[in-house]
Amino acid sequence: MLAAGVAATGSIGVGPAEAATRRGRGFQGSTTVIPIVGEAAAFGVRRIYCAGLNYRAHAEEMGVRIPTPPPPPFFFQKPTDAVDVAPFGSALRHPYPPKTADYHFEVELVVALRRGGRDLDAGAAAQSIFGYAVGLDMTRRDVQRALMEHRLPWEAAKAFDRSAVISPLTPADDSRLEKGAIGLSVDGQMRQAGDLSDMIWKPVDLIVALSQYYELFAGDLIYTGTPAGVGPVKPGETMKAMIEGVGEIEVVVTA
Ligand code: MN
Repeated sequence: MLAAGVAATGSIGVGPAEAATRRGRGFQGSTTVIPIVGEAAAFGVRRIYCAGLNYRAHAEEMGVRIPTPPPPPFFFQKPTDAVDVAPFGSALRHPYPPKTADYHFEVELVVALRRGGRDLDAGAAAQSIFGYAVGLDMTRRDVQRALMEHRLPWEAAKAFDRSAVISPLTPADDSRLEKGAIGLSVDGQMRQAGDLSDMIWKPVDLIVALSQYYELFAGDLIYTGTPAGVGPVKPGETMKAMIEGVGEIEVVVTA
């Protein structure tokens, strides 16, 4: 049952027994695993945290002005088994979800933690980074707007099956990845083109802030927010998402 469930989420599709032998990094209690570039071992995922509105231009397109100096970051979560792994070198087939007519991409740098802790300082936060991935925080935008209008939680807009598209993890050479191009195209047309240097809260800032609310652990992922240009994608369209120094993934949306 569980093995079928894991496969159905579109993660790499291994059962608990195989996952137990393949992982070796990240969280040891998870059957949700992500490949690691250059390693046979996989990365066990514990929790998926996501930062909101981390680029001013995207906040503005969402109708929010972030003041200077900025307030503390805010976060939401996706369930661990929402992971949908997009391998490097071949396209992921990703089904259009139910209950939306405005399904949006958000390309994001994802940070994976090698270790956790509480109340981390900036140095400890930098040391906690295992590596990076290209992620898509897939969003039912029509649902989100309706929930926002009624000041309700974003749950159904953000935390649904396969909503956490992610590439294999690239281990960090330099634990601080704070600049470089980030972008997304749909059927060859650039839709998002930003730079990691435009993040309001750097990955280290996000880890420091998160560790004040939660005890962090190896295996936690942090989606760091999206640059401007978010928009809809439809069945039959192909998204390509890239981050300089991390990689590029291709995702075909199916009916
Ligand atoms: Mn996002």
